[in-house]
Amino acid sequence: MTPSEFFDFAKKHGAEMVDLKFCDLLGTWQHCSYPISTWEEDTFENGVGFDGSSIRGWQAIDCSDMLAVPDAESTKLDPFFASPTISVIADIVDPITKEKYPKDPRNVAQKGIAYLNQTGIADTCYIGPEPEFFVFDDIRFQTNQSGSMYQIDSIEAAWNSGRTEEPNLGHKPSYKGGYFPVAPIDTLNDLRAEMVKEMQKVGIVVEAHHHEVATAGQCEIDMKFEDLLKMADQFMWFKYIIKNVAKRNGRTVTFMPKPIFEDNGSGMHTHISFWKGGDPLFAGDGYAGLSEMGLHAIGGLLKHGRACLAFAAPTANSYHRLVPGFEAPVTLAMSQRNRSAAVRIPMYSPSPKAKRAEFRCPDPSANGYLTFTALMMAMIDGIQNKIDPGEPLDRDIYDMTPDELAATNVTPATLGEAMTALETGHEFLTKGDVFTQDLIDTWIAWKRDNEIDALRLRPHPYEFDMYYNC
Ligand code: GLU
Ligand code: MG
Ligand code: MG
Repeated sequence: MTPSEFFDFAKKHGAEMVDLKFCDLLGTWQHCSYPISTWEEDTFENGVGFDGSSIRGWQAIDCSDMLAVPDAESTKLDPFFASPTISVIADIVDPITKEKYPKDPRNVAQKGIAYLNQTGIADTCYIGPEPEFFVFDDIRFQTNQSGSMYQIDSIEAAWNSGRTEEPNLGHKPSYKGGYFPVAPIDTLNDLRAEMVKEMQKVGIVVEAHHHEVATAGQCEIDMKFEDLLKMADQFMWFKYIIKNVAKRNGRTVTFMPKPIFEDNGSGMHTHISFWKGGDPLFAGDGYAGLSEMGLHAIGGLLKHGRACLAFAAPTANSYHRLVPGFEAPVTLAMSQRNRSAAVRIPMYSPSPKAKRAEFRCPDPSANGYLTFTALMMAMIDGIQNKIDPGEPLDRDIYDMTPDELAATNVTPATLGEAMTALETGHEFLTKGDVFTQDLIDTWIAWKRDNEIDALRLRPHPYEFDMYYNC
């Protein structure tokens, strides 16, 4: 859509407001709305000003003025405003140099795609993520009656409601039995269908929706693969729609990877393939029907997997998920069908077009722009350096003894380990200046100061159970 088509689109929908959105470093959409009458065609060149020092991890107070430049191509009708409102995604630009801002995650994705083309390896990186999430009753709504908003016991009661509800109303999924009996056991099909219909209205192609394995309200909605930038934009819409449809139905959604102890967590398996001139590049006659290029790409992903997880599994909570027993990967190995390995090569379809690697470590707390780009960069490095992915692990990794497992390339045990891996091995990301050193340093410092230390310094409630009587 051109800027002039943007104004036609707004007119057609009777919109008087435009909502400008951009993704912050950590992956949250930020927004500001404007009467459309204040915008002109040159707003799409000149942008609008905002305070870059109030956005997490961005500018210092003495250089806070930044520009958000709308990308007319991203124009949609936003479904969550009372009166018709147009939504546009912005690129962030420095008002002095007029250069795109290197800490804007969307800019990282744009540079990553340009770098892929520049290498000559491929012209397209397709991404197909499978984000999972939990739907809970709206805790605030329930506890409002007693006037307390965030009582931990109410949250625990809501989390456990699938198992402890009295009287027993029946039709509950059994432990890990959510995948995927029909209604009345699946109580969320209508809610998911409503989410899917809103996604379709903004142009997202949805392939399936279903309940997931965890007992209490875990769901998955699968989007058709798209090229990297489009998918990263789409992932922002995906979360926005899911949360807002849940909200209007008196529910909440969390994308935190492991909300419930001893039940499955939420992953965001990410399917990746490279294409050139309309042809798929990962199909061949090697292991699991992969080409040499596909195998090397997986080699890169496995080699740099621990560093990639600093973006792909970016919260302290992520590492409660990456443990044995819950269909999440625990070691950086490949396998054609093994869901306990980090890279699975799906064998559902014989078509070369379907040949791809499924990286199972990411979770939906990730920033899609940074994560998809980091995975692509690891694969590019694997291809450039012909990195051998090693022997496939076609056995149940959860059955391995601790010693056997420790001898493999295990996933990081904590967010701190992932940050150290990123700190000590990120040359594959800074090629082509795709990730700047400043972005990587800012990311590591942010995570250490605001998440790792924030948790380390606080006694955990469970410590009272363990240690109170010591
Ligand atoms: N929920 C599992 C995870 O944490 C994945 C289940 C599945 O295979 O879809 O990755
Ligand atoms: Mg799933
Ligand atoms: Mg999967």
